[in-house]
Amino acid sequence: MLRQGTRPAADDLHQRLLPDRVTDAIIRHRVDYVGVSIFGPRDIHNRVTRTDSFDKVAGNLRALIAQKKETQVIINCTITEENVENLSYPLELAKELGCDGVRYQHLGYLTRQELENLPPGRLSEMASLHVTPHNPGIKILQALRKLRIPESIKVQFVPTLSAEEMERWYSDEPGVSIERRCLYIWRGVHIHSSGDVYPCFKISYPLGNVLQESILSILNNARYKDIRLLFKDTGMIPLCRRCCKL
Ligand code: SF4
Repeated sequence: MLRQGTRPAADDLHQRLLPDRVTDAIIRHRVDYVGVSIFGPRDIHNRVTRTDSFDKVAGNLRALIAQKKETQVIINCTITEENVENLSYPLELAKELGCDGVRYQHLGYLTRQELENLPPGRLSEMASLHVTPHNPGIKILQALRKLRIPESIKVQFVPTLSAEEMERWYSDEPGVSIERRCLYIWRGVHIHSSGDVYPCFKISYPLGNVLQESILSILNNARYKDIRLLFKDTGMIPLCRRCCKL
């Protein structure tokens, strides 16, 4: 996110956050906010990320907070089946380190049943990348109902769901879904390092390549317009079922 065209944000820095060079750069460039992914206590964080990065991440976070001036530093925690019993940990860590807030990200997934209900074809192939063997929703809902958020810490959930929407989000009953429209299709674009352009990070349907033509001509080509028309008519497609952009 750039504010006034000059100040960037750094998101999802974890094992890449280097204490000296990167911390200095963040402070020098007056970055608006930095989001650091912490998935839970050391063993859980390392299991979820399949790294041993926890100590490094927490150390870097501590160093950044000690030196920062106006930069907002938040802990980002995606809710998963692995950390569902430890959802209060990011709040405790944020309090201990003096972070500016915690952002919980609702888990994005499709159940096997939801996948089977999709018509076979490209959409179903794309959706299969996001399938979980079973629905972790009940477990997550129970944990979220128990989570107590202290008033002293700013907390955001992404997406922000009402209590009723949260029940729908984690439900696996056929036909139950949250009723929202995806606006990302109009507001964002996903450009791969190869130059391929996608309508979003989940729809692996290339619509052009910025190494061969301008981004404006890609955004206005017939296939891109078709996608926008589809979303104008339908609001979202089954693949969007639990997407953080809703
Ligand atoms: S809601 Fe759907 S179209 Fe929008 S970003 Fe998510 S997956 Fe992509």
